[in-house]
Amino acid sequence: MKAVILLMDGLGDRPCRSLGGQTPLQAAHKPLFDRMATEGESGVVDVVAPGTPNGSDTGHLAILGYDPHIYYFGRGPFEALGAGIDLREGDIAFRCNFATIDREGMILDRRAGRISSSEAQRLAEDISGLAIPEYPDVKILFRPTIEHRGVLVIRGGALSDKVSDTDPHKTGVRVNIPEPLEDSTEAARTASIMKAFTEKTSEILENHPINQRRREQGFPPANVILLRGAGRFKQLPTINERYHVRGAVIAGGALYKGVCKAVGFDVVNVPTATGTYNTDLSAKVRAVVDSLKKYDLVFMHVKATDTASHDRQPAKKKEMIEKTSHAFTPIYEMGISEDLYVVVTGDHTTPSEIGEHRGDPVPIMFWGGDVRRDRVEKFDEVSCAAGCVGRIRGVDVMKLLCNYLGTVEMYGE
Ligand code: ZN
Ligand code: ZN
Repeated sequence: MKAVILLMDGLGDRPCRSLGGQTPLQAAHKPLFDRMATEGESGVVDVVAPGTPNGSDTGHLAILGYDPHIYYFGRGPFEALGAGIDLREGDIAFRCNFATIDREGMILDRRAGRISSSEAQRLAEDISGLAIPEYPDVKILFRPTIEHRGVLVIRGGALSDKVSDTDPHKTGVRVNIPEPLEDSTEAARTASIMKAFTEKTSEILENHPINQRRREQGFPPANVILLRGAGRFKQLPTINERYHVRGAVIAGGALYKGVCKAVGFDVVNVPTATGTYNTDLSAKVRAVVDSLKKYDLVFMHVKATDTASHDRQPAKKKEMIEKTSHAFTPIYEMGISEDLYVVVTGDHTTPSEIGEHRGDPVPIMFWGGDVRRDRVEKFDEVSCAAGCVGRIRGVDVMKLLCNYLGTVEMYGE
């Protein structure tokens, strides 16, 4: 038996004035999702805990069956894994932004005018592998992800993730000096490495040909790298060890690939899966169908539903849901002719009139094979709440799915 989890990021919502008091999911024309709800069983999920807004990182861990209170180690390592860096136990990873500072060191733009990925790539080539003379045993790995964003990994010797961000998360102030957040030599050493990294990279970036060209063209230079979200990588038990399935992930964004990779999924790269509104949903669905030949469980992620929520565009979110429902048809058809279970859900609620994550439960449905048919006929926040699945926690989702797959060990005899 095989399974697909389709996760639309930030799927849950609240009534929107511009949609006549409906949520984007309620307002969406999505005949396939509604048919699956009719043929399957539905419910709602408190992804981390009731009434507790969660991030995508902890939300994904929970949906994949890993209690984030036990297994979460900060966002940096997940982003780094997703960016293709093979982490080792004890590595400290950060999320980074290329940003712009003026001569006095004041931050003018936290995104350096959203520099292009190709410019970021060129800058990164001169930063990754940078030697810090005071710490000859330390290795610096830096990789850009999308536009001004990237990841930094510090490797070697005693390190700690108990360090403060250099990113003040606002403009008009100076870059923060990294501080140890605990009284340990590891934390002090890591903060000192971060400080040296920031100074050295600023020197390199200030006079970099890419930035000289940007100045000539009237664009802000990317002359500093801001660090945030430190995390210390440790090997997690794999999904195969815990749930006896081999998994693959298909996603655009680095974070989602990274969380899946951390728990032992293989990453199937789809070049046209961009993690943005123009992502190629059909190509992703084809990759899912293809991957099911080799894997027991394929996880497909759609980011743009959350992006539309943060952009406060309920209509755009509704449109992404409609497109996803339509694009999902080949997987539904596969499930009609072969043994396949499908889970459709989200990782948190992002009300698109608020533009931030909230702790309302998200809808979920199980479909395929011998899944019970409840009386729910629409896939949305309110209809699903009346279904057979009831109200569950995020960490229960994998258990329920694996129960269908027959891979859960019996308790007792
Ligand atoms: Zn999310
Ligand atoms: Zn979000």
